[in-house]
Amino acid sequence: MSTNTKRKQDLVRVELVPMRKGEFPARAFPEFTLDHGQVWTADLTEAEARRVRRLAGRRHVFCHIYDMRYVRSDNYRQRFIRAFPPKHGKYRCVYCGRWVKTRDMTVDHVIPVYGVKRSRFMRWKIRHYTDVNDLRNLAPSCRRCNLKKGESTSFVWRWRARLGKHALYWRIRRTMVVLLVLLVILACLPGETGNMVRQYLLTAGMAIRDGIWRLLAPPLPG
Ligand SMILES: [Zn+2]
Repeated sequence: MSTNTKRKQDLVRVELVPMRKGEFPARAFPEFTLDHGQVWTADLTEAEARRVRRLAGRRHVFCHIYDMRYVRSDNYRQRFIRAFPPKHGKYRCVYCGRWVKTRDMTVDHVIPVYGVKRSRFMRWKIRHYTDVNDLRNLAPSCRRCNLKKGESTSFVWRWRARLGKHALYWRIRRTMVVLLVLLVILACLPGETGNMVRQYLLTAGMAIRDGIWRLLAPPLPG
């Protein structure tokens, strides 16, 4: 059966990595193409994958086999843009809130493909998605944030993506920043107003400190 007639859902993604850098026995694995770095990939049936795994052990090659659900698709970016067309040719980065032109926007896998491949917990996290390229796992991001996030599976990034999708979140954040700047300016004023604001900030600060202290400190005996 040739690769063209195989149904995609019946295939698995096989990744081969030579144990010694730069020594991949390409002739032993004709169906594999170089994907990135030292990683060679092919989409095979499960029976073929098992055969490759046996051969890989003998040829000093690491072999990883993945369900196609955990593999980056070729068209996730187009699908995302079709589902969420840009506003005035721009997208807001969910991580930093910056607006970027469509051509500079990168579509980020919130739960990264690498994480899903390596971690059972991450696979459990996406159990309700059709696959790792599900629209719910995609978010617009600027290049800088995407690079900074990399393959991180930290919950902080996931929360930032979740909040950053909502315009209201950015509005509240902006309002808080403006208020804070205003308070600092007022506190720097000489005279009665400055005094009052400084007193207010001091009281608020102490209340917050006491609140945290009460949360962290163990209750007194008796
Ligand atoms: Zn950004």
